[in-house]
Amino acid sequence: MSSLRFVQVEPFTPVILPPGGALQPGPPGRHLGHYPSLPPGYQSMPPGHTAQPYPLKQQPYQQPPGPAGLSPSLAAMSLQSGMPEALRVVNLLQERNLLPPGPLPAPTPCLTQDLQRINCNPEVFRSTLTSIPQTQSLLNKAKMPLGLLLHPFKDLSQLPVVTSSTIVRCRSCRTYINPFVSFLDQRRWKCNLCYRVNDVPEEFMYNPVSRAYGEPHRGRRYRTPPQPAVYLFVLDVSHNALETGYLHVFCQSLLDNLESLPGDSRTKVGFITFDSTIHFYNLQEGLSQPQMLIVSDIEDIFLPTPDSLLVNLNESKELVQDLLKSLPSLFEKTMETQSALGSALQSLPNLGAGALQSREDPNQRANAKDVQHLSPATDFYKKLALDCSGQQVAVDLFLLSAQYCDLASLGNSLIFCFLSGAVYYYPSYHQQHNPAQVERFQKDLKRYITRKIGFEAVMRIRCTKGLSIHTFHGNFFVRSTDLLSLPNVNPDAGFAVQMSIDENLDDTQVVSFQAALLYTSSKGERRIRVHTLCLPVVNSLSDIFAGADVQAMTGLLACMAVDRSITASLSDAREALTNAAIDSLACYRQSVLTIQQPGLLAPACLRLFPLYILALHKQKAFRVGTSTRLDERVSAMLQLKYQPLAYAMLMIHPTLYRVDDLTDEGALNINDRTIPQPRVLQLSVEKLSREGAFLMDAGTVMYLWIGRNCNPSFISQVLGVPSYAAVPENLYLLPELDTAESQRVRAFVGWLKEQRPFAPTLHIIRDESQMKSSFLQSMIEDRTESALSYYEFLLHLQQQISK
Ligand SMILES: [Zn+2]
Repeated sequence: MSSLRFVQVEPFTPVILPPGGALQPGPPGRHLGHYPSLPPGYQSMPPGHTAQPYPLKQQPYQQPPGPAGLSPSLAAMSLQSGMPEALRVVNLLQERNLLPPGPLPAPTPCLTQDLQRINCNPEVFRSTLTSIPQTQSLLNKAKMPLGLLLHPFKDLSQLPVVTSSTIVRCRSCRTYINPFVSFLDQRRWKCNLCYRVNDVPEEFMYNPVSRAYGEPHRGRRYRTPPQPAVYLFVLDVSHNALETGYLHVFCQSLLDNLESLPGDSRTKVGFITFDSTIHFYNLQEGLSQPQMLIVSDIEDIFLPTPDSLLVNLNESKELVQDLLKSLPSLFEKTMETQSALGSALQSLPNLGAGALQSREDPNQRANAKDVQHLSPATDFYKKLALDCSGQQVAVDLFLLSAQYCDLASLGNSLIFCFLSGAVYYYPSYHQQHNPAQVERFQKDLKRYITRKIGFEAVMRIRCTKGLSIHTFHGNFFVRSTDLLSLPNVNPDAGFAVQMSIDENLDDTQVVSFQAALLYTSSKGERRIRVHTLCLPVVNSLSDIFAGADVQAMTGLLACMAVDRSITASLSDAREALTNAAIDSLACYRQSVLTIQQPGLLAPACLRLFPLYILALHKQKAFRVGTSTRLDERVSAMLQLKYQPLAYAMLMIHPTLYRVDDLTDEGALNINDRTIPQPRVLQLSVEKLSREGAFLMDAGTVMYLWIGRNCNPSFISQVLGVPSYAAVPENLYLLPELDTAESQRVRAFVGWLKEQRPFAPTLHIIRDESQMKSSFLQSMIEDRTESALSYYEFLLHLQQQISK
């Protein structure tokens, strides 16, 4: 067996909890037994939790929760076998239809109903292991990664907001009072993270009239006044950039949504354009039209008149509108081919500071054993990013490009490691030739401009004494061991952390995790959003396995593999992924199974683990043997790290549906709309049929594949063309036809799109289409020239495990 593994954290010296400092052992429910001074409404709307406790959304295929609504593992224990459903033995080599027909629900932690009812929504906060091992050595034995995945600023339909003058926090560890603390009596509460007993302040009174909880305003102690919202748009106006036609789309989008830009009367905006020189725009109130200032000495950028470049949006609105209307034509005839991105950014890349050389060797794409140049070529952007972070500036990068543009340097350094920004990547963007990308850019921009935003943010993740966080994944700057600095926080960003167990958790039955996000809202208010997750502690390997969350594990492993690709190599990362599957299943076989039997055995909760690991191997970020442009690879890596779990899973393992025979059977009814719910199919060409039409949802992109002999009524009633041969090559929109078939398909596709904040492109493809290879590359269960089929991969795992 190979030695390449993801870093295993060494066990730490166990420390005995101080006498009296530990939580009294007892049934978990007891901790919540006393809320003496609180009215009943409190427990259903605890601070830091979404108003609707889990499950948040209607999930059509959610597995039945078992008798009496117990959590699945508890419920199953009452069955004859005495074994929880999560541990039911599955022989992966025999059972071929493991994929559930609908979305895979997050596992429910094995807690009492009372605790689980008030637990954090798994869409916001979840753990790879919903049962926490008591010791690090037990965690090491289980060979599964321990970590948390967060979507802390997610848009929520209902968010309780606390407006009390006192924020109740533990005096010792600063944890916010939460539903999992225990009240000793009317006057004292015991912290569930450090076990200190705290006094309940007089002011901690619930106001039954306002019934408001959850996102407290920051109290008086905050030091400096909150900053106003400031937006600076830096636009490439070199010949190549303008040739794509993006500037029209950008200016029009901003004009359309100028009123929706989050902020208040203090909001400031500014614009910089650049080619081989840098152009600033004076938009000061009182001018009759915008003034352009050109700085050609890009080695020594200075701001000509800073006050007039970043102007108050309200006061200078007409000048801003004038500028946006005239910008696209201003550079229409430009011959400038140089682009001084580094210098342009510094004033706040093939010329001046930060210039990047083309490093990709196109001949090496397909057959190289490993991929070079995944790490940044220059530390210019890294330094710039650190500077920006110190000044509470976040940088988002929209990259619209036909050629290689060294995203590894730009993205990695600028955004990836240090800033709370994001990278948006539109390969082969062109106004005329690529309408699908244009539509995606338009929709992304609208979301980008209008979504909620928080400034000057910091996030701290606290865990119960004994647990600690050692590695962070996401876009931010790590200021200290548990404090993350985010110049901006947006509602579409996900984070992950890896944890270790420093001290044995012998004396407690539950542990808690609390993420606190402190930020300035666009209205200038200081706010704190708090999420608290409670999980049971267990001391046997079988209990750890029973609580494994296969999707959370996959998401965390993807982040770890990105890091490994950059710090070591792509082949190391791929090998470590395979070993994660081998090690966990080998441990299960050796230490959990009581009866040995032949085959590749997995507990039911991990039955999809090998499939997801194989899917990661074939994902753009980590695949080999297929031509993958370096920028596309790096973009996929950035996405995997940045996307909240739900969207990352769609990128890793897309969902496939047959859509030419949609029916109302089992459909959802939302706001008078009927949304068909076709079953999810395995990602194999075996599941396709030439007589059908199939929709693949891969997160940022969707494919509608039309079979050669597809039902003619589908082609005419849904696509609006007379025959298969008449389906156009570049079709990316479903026509709005007044037929039942068209309505069903559009309702389903529209419903899928509504469930994510970004706009996926839809490609409608025939067998002859150029996009067909992208569609087929996602059929990850099939064998390709250079990659194993699912069945071969299972055989490989079995061979390694039985060594
Ligand atoms: Zn505490």
